[in-house]
Amino acid sequence: MPATSSTHLQAATWLSPGRSKRLTPDLLSGQKALVTGASSGIGKAIAIALAEAGADVAVNFPASEAEAHEVVAQISRAGRKAILVQADVSQEEQVLEMFDRVISAFGTIDILINNAGIQRDASIDEMTLAQWNSVISTNLTGQFLCAREAIREFKRRGVVSDISISAGKIICVSSVHEVIPWAGHVNYAASKGGVMLLMKSIAQEVAPLKIRVNSICPGAIRTPLNRSAWDVPEAYDSLMALVPYNRIGEPDEIGWLAAFLASDLADYITGTSIYIDGGMMLYPGFESGG
Ligand code: NAD
Repeated sequence: MPATSSTHLQAATWLSPGRSKRLTPDLLSGQKALVTGASSGIGKAIAIALAEAGADVAVNFPASEAEAHEVVAQISRAGRKAILVQADVSQEEQVLEMFDRVISAFGTIDILINNAGIQRDASIDEMTLAQWNSVISTNLTGQFLCAREAIREFKRRGVVSDISISAGKIICVSSVHEVIPWAGHVNYAASKGGVMLLMKSIAQEVAPLKIRVNSICPGAIRTPLNRSAWDVPEAYDSLMALVPYNRIGEPDEIGWLAAFLASDLADYITGTSIYIDGGMMLYPGFESGG
């Protein structure tokens, strides 16, 4: 069924109030998580999902504190501890300070969600070095800096078996554009392609230490980052040509996957990119033969 102007602003019907969508609070009980870029969109949904699954959560934000306070309030309502940590993930000193603060507040860290990301779009011949550098610094260097600090803590602490089978979990929020080329967004696609091999190479290096590293690769999710692709009916309809399942994804759906991947239920999963995209990776342009 084609998308219509009456559906483009509504969450999918199965997300409506009353439908059961509970995470069990013992899934991540006793675990401490840090979510970067957690004051909006996917990061906010992941922070809340991890709390609903039983984790205490450090909510990182780069600048605007008001939205981050709202996330902390929601985590507190879920009965978990939350702290706010301001840091620009592309800045080494700020990342080091952030980890110091989280570890002194929580004692350790079990789960890192490398989520912070930006887009600065331009055609290749118009793209400035500043646009290139800002996206690579946040989306790729930021993930490296945070992963390095998390692994230092995971190695120091090792496995605490009544908390988790694993010594630590890192989930990188990547994108379908780690493999799908994206004209007009070469900085973004290059950053996510980099995240893919950053994630896999770290996973290979630390698997013997019982540290798991994976990526979640969203397709089109309803967040502020891509508002122009879903907030008017014409844009939504043209987006649906790329989504065989014929609806946009909701941030909560990324949160639920992150909670599962961070839990011991996913203990045998490492070094993997999991696409959550309504079939965008099925190359729907080939549906009618190619
Ligand atoms: P968003 O703009 O709501 O979230 C991005 C967050 O990152 C914001 O909270 C922002 O404050 C934070 N941030 C930006 N620069 C930062 C920095 N230097 N340090 C710390 N935090 C910083 O958008 P979103 O869609 O929720 O994006 C979250 C992640 O999901 C990004 O990595 C993005 O690439 C990825 N993603 C999103 C989609 C989508 O359809 N929305 C699809 C694929 C991948």
